[in-house]
Amino acid sequence: MTKPEQSAAAAETKAPAIYIYDTMARRKERFEPLVPGKVTMYVCGPTVYDLIHIGNARPLIFFDVVHRYLKQFYDVTYAVNFTDVDDKLIRRAEETGREVPELAERNIEDYLTDAKTLKALPATLHPRVTENMQEIIAFIEELVTRGFAYESGGDVYFRTGTFPGYGKLSHQNLEELQFGSRIAVDERKASPLDFVLWKAAKPGEISWPSPWGEGRPGWHIECSAMARKYLGDTIDIHGGGMDLTFPHHECEIAQSEAITGKPFARYWMHNAFLNLNNEKMSKSLGNVVNARELAARHKPEAIRFLMLSTHYRNPLNFTEEGLEQARNGLERIENCRSNLKHLLENATSDAPAPADVLQRLDAIRGAFHAKMSDDFNTPDAITAVFELVAEANAAMAGGAAPASLLREIDGLFKEMDAVLGILTEEGDDLLDDDIERLIEERTAARKARDFARADEIRDLLSSLGIVLEDTPQGIRWKRK
Ligand code: AMP
Ligand code: ZN
Repeated sequence: MTKPEQSAAAAETKAPAIYIYDTMARRKERFEPLVPGKVTMYVCGPTVYDLIHIGNARPLIFFDVVHRYLKQFYDVTYAVNFTDVDDKLIRRAEETGREVPELAERNIEDYLTDAKTLKALPATLHPRVTENMQEIIAFIEELVTRGFAYESGGDVYFRTGTFPGYGKLSHQNLEELQFGSRIAVDERKASPLDFVLWKAAKPGEISWPSPWGEGRPGWHIECSAMARKYLGDTIDIHGGGMDLTFPHHECEIAQSEAITGKPFARYWMHNAFLNLNNEKMSKSLGNVVNARELAARHKPEAIRFLMLSTHYRNPLNFTEEGLEQARNGLERIENCRSNLKHLLENATSDAPAPADVLQRLDAIRGAFHAKMSDDFNTPDAITAVFELVAEANAAMAGGAAPASLLREIDGLFKEMDAVLGILTEEGDDLLDDDIERLIEERTAARKARDFARADEIRDLLSSLGIVLEDTPQGIRWKRK
């Protein structure tokens, strides 16, 4: 169950044996990074035409936990790309009378704010399509030169038949795919399975010059080109939602491996989908909840708790009741921690911590790591946090626990939370920036005569204890 080209990494770092379910191998495999001590991670990020919804928040939070966990043992380079030009962005810009770069910039800022609100640690890199155009074009040129791609009427397509491995990630072979493909006949393509690398610009569309004329890249090529530029020919972990397995990741593999002849990613990780009240979230059903709105109504810690209470490879049903339960669970932990803090501030006993309790704390720490290193089993890791709560409550009963024991317990809570990010630290309250952003949004809604939205934001702020005052100088706000 080991990978080719494996290194002696595990022996050289203090990492536990970590097993990751690899979509390609269809089983858990021992994690060994290509370069000892270093991990490269690439997760396909958002197409920045709108705010992210809570479905998008699932990979955001889950891969943040993977990043946080691996960071303890490895030097991790974590890249999340921004697709800042594509059909959806062009359409949305047209609809709203804005320019694509302005729309993208605004949504990137919003994404970064939301990621921070949801307590995701910053990624190392956020490469953008528009800032890597030279590399993307050079990648396509190489594919054309080497016979893997062809130009057709200003577009460029990947000739899927030249890459026998096409389908290996989603476990389909080329014949099956051809047989099953209901893709409409497109005379620009030599075969229906060929996919676009470069799209000729329509009149008036944003475009870049290229050897094939003005145009823009297709979606798949950006990840191959940017992953190679920033992380090298082979990345350790490639992640995303399971909808990306086919065709997106399959196409990335074809492009990258055609050029390099090396495995594109050593481990492929895919999160299952999030449903809202047992329904798929979709624009047509009108049940899309944006992450920002939810995070304004609920503690981000409760959102993370709920997201991490289901294993990432299982579908997650997101409900208000689930959030309520998450809040109750968190409250049990928070109560325990505030008692702990209080006792620590007033502890008088400097007796050594009892050996049997220390042993049990070690067992809890061991269980936490055993679960996290078993394909990031966050629900069971959360169970370990509750075992710590029970142990802490027992130790604190009577009020005479020695300070050294209380510090051990506090340290273990912090150690676990460095990975999960579900506990509130002092100063984590609603930030002024967030309030001001909501007020801005309300002002914009009123300008656009969207009074329903404006009222909704006023009510939301009110429920958060914020009062708005209309003054001649503009809106002022204060906490109730
Ligand atoms: P998109 O902007 O649609 O490309 O999505 C960004 C990321 O969110 C991708 O990894 C998607 O697979 C993921 N994603 C989108 N919708 C959901 C959902 N309902 N549940 C879980 N992941 C999702
Ligand atoms: Zn991608």
